[in-house]
Amino acid sequence: MTSALATYFARLHTALLEAEAGGEVPELARLSGARDEHLGLALCDLDGRITAEGSDHAFPVQSISKAFAYGAAIDLHGHDYVTSIVDEEPTGEDFGALSLDRVTKKPKNPLVNIGAIRTHAMLGPEQAERTERLRAVLEAAAGRPLELHEETCRRELAGSDRNLALAHMLRAAGSMDEDAEEVVAGYIEGCAVLTTVTDLAVMAATLASGGTNPLTGERVFSRVAARQVLSVMLTCGMYDNAGDWVSDVGLPAKSGVAGGIIASLPSRFGIATYAPQLDQHGNSVRGTLAFERMSEDFSMHLLDGQEAADLDRRAAELTEIGTAI
Ligand code: GLU
Repeated sequence: MTSALATYFARLHTALLEAEAGGEVPELARLSGARDEHLGLALCDLDGRITAEGSDHAFPVQSISKAFAYGAAIDLHGHDYVTSIVDEEPTGEDFGALSLDRVTKKPKNPLVNIGAIRTHAMLGPEQAERTERLRAVLEAAAGRPLELHEETCRRELAGSDRNLALAHMLRAAGSMDEDAEEVVAGYIEGCAVLTTVTDLAVMAATLASGGTNPLTGERVFSRVAARQVLSVMLTCGMYDNAGDWVSDVGLPAKSGVAGGIIASLPSRFGIATYAPQLDQHGNSVRGTLAFERMSEDFSMHLLDGQEAADLDRRAAELTEIGTAI
C-alpha cells in the first residue's frame, strides 16, 4: 500500500516539475548525464524506511563528500586536532575563495574548498590511503558500494588550477606538508563518486542518527563526529546562502554542484533532493524549493519551538485538505 508520505512526495514532485524554477545545469554535470527534467526526492528514517520519488539517476556527490571527509578526519585525529588546523566559522564567501584566516592561517571551515582540501590531506599519509578511506566512509554511509565517474574526475583534474592554487596556498602558509597535486587529485576523486538521491538520503540519515547507518546498522561515525559534521553543515553547508537556508529551512544541510542536497533532522530522518539546475550560489533551485516546502509542511525547522510532525499523519492531513503544494 502506498504510504501517505509517498503520496505527498508524488504530488510535490509533480508540482516542482511544473514550476518555472529557472537556474542552469552546469556543463560539468551534463558530463554525467544530468538533464533538465531530472528531479528526485528521498527520505530515510532512523528505522531505515525509505520513501523515494522521481529520478534515480546517479550523479557525482561533489561537495557533499566534504562533510563526510570532515567526519572521517575527526574520527581519525579527534575534534580538537582537526579544529586546530581547520576552523568552523562561516565565510560568507564563494566556495572556491582563496582565503585563509589572516592571523591563524587556518581555512575558515571544512566545507569551502580550501578547508576541504586541507581536511582531505588529514585522511592518511599517502594519496591511496586517503582516497580509499574517503570512499569507504561514503560507501558505509550510503550502505552500498559506489562507483567513480571517471570522466568527471578527468575533466575536473584537467581544470583544477584553482584547487591547486588553494593547496599551494596551504603549503605556503605552513598549514600543509602533503604534495599539493596528490591531495587535490584525491579531493577531486572524492567529489566524482556517483550517488543516487536515495544514497544521499541514507547518508543524511546516518548523520541524523548520530553516526550509525540505519539500513546496515554499521557505525560510520562516532557521535562526536556526526554532531560536529551537522554543526558545520548548519552554519556553512549551503555555500554563501547558508543564512537564508537556516531561516527558510532550518536544517543542517550540504549541497553539491551536481545538484544534490542532503539535510538531516537529528534523531528523526535524513532527506535528499536531486535536481541539477543551480542558482547563483551553486545550490539546486528545485531542491531548495522542495526543502522550503517540506520544512513548512512538516514543521521541520529546528528552531520552530515544536517537534516536527509525524510524517505519515501530517502527509495524510495535507493530502486530505488538498494543500500539499
Ligand atoms: N569538485 C568541485 C570543486 O572542487 C566541487 C564543487 C562543489 O560541489 O561545490 O570545485
